[in-house]
Amino acid sequence: TPTTSLTTLQARFATELPELARVWQADEAPAPRLLVLNEPLAAELGLDAEELRGAEGLGLLTGTLPPKGAHPVAQAYAGHQFGGFARLGDGRALLLGELTDTAGRLRDLHLKGSGRTPYARGGDGLAAVGPMLREFIVSEAMHALGIPTTRSLAVVATGRDVYRESVLPGAVLARVASSHLRVGTFQLVAALGDDALLRRLADHAIARHHPAAAKDPQPYLALYRAVIAAQAELIAQWMLVGFVHGVMNTDNMTISGETIDYGPCAFLEAFDPGTVFSSIDTGGRYAYANQPPIGAWNLARFGETLLPLLADSPDEAVELATAALDGFGEAYNAAWSAGIRAKLGLGTVGDAADGPSVEAVDELAGELLGLLRASHVEHTSFWRELATAARGDAEPVRGRFLDLPAIDAWLERWRALGPDPDAMDAVNPLYIPRNHLVEEALDAATGGDLVPLLGLLDAVRSPYVERPGLERYAEPAPEDFGKYMTFCGT
Ligand code: AMP
Ligand code: MG
Ligand code: MG
Repeated sequence: TPTTSLTTLQARFATELPELARVWQADEAPAPRLLVLNEPLAAELGLDAEELRGAEGLGLLTGTLPPKGAHPVAQAYAGHQFGGFARLGDGRALLLGELTDTAGRLRDLHLKGSGRTPYARGGDGLAAVGPMLREFIVSEAMHALGIPTTRSLAVVATGRDVYRESVLPGAVLARVASSHLRVGTFQLVAALGDDALLRRLADHAIARHHPAAAKDPQPYLALYRAVIAAQAELIAQWMLVGFVHGVMNTDNMTISGETIDYGPCAFLEAFDPGTVFSSIDTGGRYAYANQPPIGAWNLARFGETLLPLLADSPDEAVELATAALDGFGEAYNAAWSAGIRAKLGLGTVGDAADGPSVEAVDELAGELLGLLRASHVEHTSFWRELATAARGDAEPVRGRFLDLPAIDAWLERWRALGPDPDAMDAVNPLYIPRNHLVEEALDAATGGDLVPLLGLLDAVRSPYVERPGLERYAEPAPEDFGKYMTFCGT
């Protein structure tokens, strides 16, 4: 097969864990056309944007011209999907390989929508332009918000039709991640019952993500603790910004602590803990407020896979894993408390000595969330307007609440603590990928017009700084947008 010399990739995963890798080839893209290229990310990866735009670049970005020495593979994994265990794998994705970025970090270069693989089951192996652009927009927004995430390098339309409810243009997303190891990767190996492979997988994960664990007297317990800490911190960030992942199956939970799989995700509009956007999540398993306990449940499944490595005695292994998992709540609460304190403009936890106590701020925040919920207050706008209240004008915020005496009493207590409005604006985003704007951008792009997409990307890539002309990106959905619903696997 022809290859490209635009970059050199390693094949660490494919060579270290061949049992979990099926060497595979991307489908041909009949008429590749670049829809969007992430130039800053390309630069970070040491890739030349102009070259990526050329024919060879499109070959790289669709997998039809893999780099010399690359061994594209479909990765095998398992996962609990809505609580039920299944053996899975990349059904429509390929790992091209790993590259060392300009900062010396090893990054996966991966494709989504590149054709059927041995793990495709009933799927067609393809992806439509809209959902791949959704992943591009939302992952860029998350990155700009400082939330760990996989990245999107490019979306290339393939020129192939994809059959869904209607005929849609097909696309391939080039995704970059610090790795694609998932809780489900460990679950597959545990199900195979191969302890030697399990140890190799855990060593690979430690080397790539949590190298400090290698020096711990209990390296695999340290790995478990590190993943628990990373996921607790990540999910706290989701909660603070109002992000609903929508499909927290264990195959969509990374070992790195990066957010992965932007299928049915969406941001809160009205603050409501029960919010669900995904059309298939009829039981609300992955509702906004369930994300922390589901994270802990998924991490319990991860811990089970590690038991053979934790101790010779099964009882002792269970004891160690249980004690480690108990740390999730504490780590989550610490991250959430620090984040909510910053959102309220009450300093960082480091300043807690001379500010209000963690307990006092948590209590104040808890009361506020109760008021937000009772009045269905629009989450993102509220936090920006609260800074306006700190500057002396509380009317915009007051106008959002039904129970005025309650919000007035709350505002008085909060203002007595001396909130800093500039610090609030630095952590409460003005521009997020609002659901109606995402839909507008994807619809237009599907029809061939990329202008709304580029406008939205520009807004969410600098989420905190108010800019003239971007007013509509800070406004809520129009009334007639109705209840928002998202769909997986399209
Ligand atoms: P997800 O719910 O997006 O995490 O996907 C779950 C599984 O379904 C993964 O193994 C995917 O690779 C696979 N999958 C999703 N869509 C397709 C498709 N169109 N063709 C083949 N496999 C798919
Ligand atoms: Mg997935
Ligand atoms: Mg998905």
